Formats: sequence, structure tokens, C-alpha cells
Amino acid sequence: MAKSTGVHVISDDLDEDRRPVAGEPVLEIRDLHVTFRTEDGPVYAVRGIDLDVAAGEVLGVVGESGSGKSVTMLATLGLLPRTAQVTGSAKFRGEELIGRKPRELQRIRGAKIAMIFQDPLTALNPVLRVGKQITEAIRAHRSDVNESEAWKRAIELLDMVGIPRPEVRVREYPHEFSGGMRQRAMIAMMIANDPDVIIADEPTTALDVTIQAQILELLKSIQERTRTAVVFITHDLGVIARVADRVQVLYAGRTTEIGSVDDVFHRSRHPYTRGLLASLPGLAAPGRRLNPIVGSPPSMLFPPGGCAFHPRCPLAEEICSTEQPPLRAIDELHRRTACYFAEKLVPGVET
Ligand code: ADP
Ligand code: MG
Repeated sequence: MAKSTGVHVISDDLDEDRRPVAGEPVLEIRDLHVTFRTEDGPVYAVRGIDLDVAAGEVLGVVGESGSGKSVTMLATLGLLPRTAQVTGSAKFRGEELIGRKPRELQRIRGAKIAMIFQDPLTALNPVLRVGKQITEAIRAHRSDVNESEAWKRAIELLDMVGIPRPEVRVREYPHEFSGGMRQRAMIAMMIANDPDVIIADEPTTALDVTIQAQILELLKSIQERTRTAVVFITHDLGVIARVADRVQVLYAGRTTEIGSVDDVFHRSRHPYTRGLLASLPGLAAPGRRLNPIVGSPPSMLFPPGGCAFHPRCPLAEEICSTEQPPLRAIDELHRRTACYFAEKLVPGVET
């Protein structure tokens, strides 16, 4: 609770028991840079990313492999190796996370920020029963809950995430669960403490298409019920279209476009997004179509100068190789794009 001394102390300002109200900023990342020291030289993984997600909202973060999606979130949560140099700001409900001591971060993360990864096997402990892992997750942050109450809650949670016969499955080990069931168990663990934000990093990528659809439905229904803020990371625009309210597109460690799902999917103003969309059947923007992107993403040891996308871009001109285009507001919508020639992508304008 905030102390009434009149002294503004950020860490005392966070009322841990109060849920953020819809629209309240939950994560605010500003000018985040992450550089890894490697034997080959510095890897410029994240190069000035801003990211916002508010309570009640699902932000989809999309981009090809290596664009900096995971590193952005791992840096925010203090989960990168020591070879990573992180600068900039990342606030969780107003509280700065960058530069915090590991113990303080652990406290904030554990109860209030839930993470779900592509491979739940690496996140689940193979030698502990699934139920035990859920009860430990609950009891780590709730000393008032006893062991048998926590087991009851674990069974309820498994039931909630669609695991059949939860009173039996709760006593099984992760290897006795299928891939889809393990991801459901992860989600149960993740929601055990009513987090304020869920960070889901490619949570369905390892699953087959049918199971993937079921897990997306589950995540969506949990989000709608709890109105938690969600950052949903994926390389798959089709997945974003199903779950997100807003989309942020990353390329080579920077943001190329941000807007509502509708604007970005149907009225994209960035040639990279257009290229991603063009490779998705049935999702390409109307009007003039660009072909799917040729070439591959750059090495972050030597990112191209100017706009990092210029070597692959059908619209690129001289300025694109020398000047970094700023992320700018375009038309009257809440949409921003980092392209000098975004206006050429307005339908009806010949390019
Ligand atoms: P993605 O968008 O696929 O999640 P990442 O955020 O994992 O991409 O990676 C961004 C860039 O950072 C990539 O070029 C990747 O090779 C590099 N990278 C990630 N982790 C490390 C590390 N521990 N050491 C060196 N480079 C790394
Ligand atoms: Mg990743």
C-alpha cells in the first residue's frame, strides 16, 4: 500500500492486491536496447523498442524468427544471461524492472506476471507431479493457503483448462501428459495466482493444428473472463488474427508497424507487414498486392544501416539505406509505421 508520508516511493506505490482496471497500463517498455557480447562481436538483438499493454487487452507481437520478440520480453523480466547488456526502461504497473535486483524481480514476476513458453516440458519439472507443481506455484505466493486447499484449487484449475478427470490427472507426472495437455497444465499453473499480465511466447508453435486451435480458444476464454493483459508472441500472423486486439510488428530488433488487428491486417502501411500478409492465404490486404518477401532476415551481428528491411523491400529508395525511418502516426487511426513510403501503400495509389 502507498504510505501517506508524501514521499513518492515507486515500489511502495504498487498496491499488490488491487487489480488494474481495464485500460490501465500494465507494461510500458521504452527505448529498450539489448546487445549480447559474443565471440563474433556484439549482437544487436533489440534496438530501441517501445511496447505497451493495458489491462483487458491482448497485444500480439509478430515478426520472423530472430526479430527480437523473445529477447524483448526476457530483458523486461530480467531473465537474460549475463552476456546481455540491457538499457532503456520497462515498467510493470509503474514500477521499473530494468536494473532491479534478481530477488525483487522474482517477487514481482512470480505472483503478478505469468509466462508461458513454446515447450512446456522445459518449464514443468519432470520429477514432480503436475498437481504438486501447481500447489507450489500457489503456495509460493499465498502463505495463507494450506496444502489441502491448494490441491483442491489445483484440481479446479485443471478442470478449468479442460483436463478430463482432473482429480486423477493431478497426481500424474508431466511425461504422462500429451503435448496439448502439458500446455493446458502450464496454463493452469500460470493462472493460479491471478496474474496482471500473461506473456505467452509461441505457446502453440510445437502443437499440431487442431490442438493449437483448442489452446488458443482456451487462452482467449481465460483472457475474456479475467480481463488480464496478454502479450502474445508468435511468428504466425494467422494466430495473431485469432487472439489479438492490437498488433506490433518487429523486424531486426525494431518496431515496423503498430495498430489494431483490423488496420494492420486490412490496411497495413508497411511493406514488411504486407509481405508477411502476402504469404498467408486469405489474409492479404486488398488493393495492390506485394509478393511474399524474398531473402531472409539479417544477421544481428551486422544489421543493415537505415531501415533494416531495405535490402528486401520492393519500395526501397536511396534514403532507406542511410536513414532510419522513425515510427510515425499515419492517417487518423491509432496506427504507426516506420516507413518513408507508407503513403504509397494506401489503396488506389499506384506504386
Ligand atoms: P525471436 O523474435 O525469434 O524470438 P529472439 O528475441 O530470440 O528472436 O532473438 C533476437 C536476436 O538475438 C537473434 O539474432 C538471436 O540470435 C539473438 N540472441 C538471442 N539470445 C542470444 C544470446 N543468448 N546470445 C547471443 N545472441 C542471442
Ligand atoms: Mg522467440
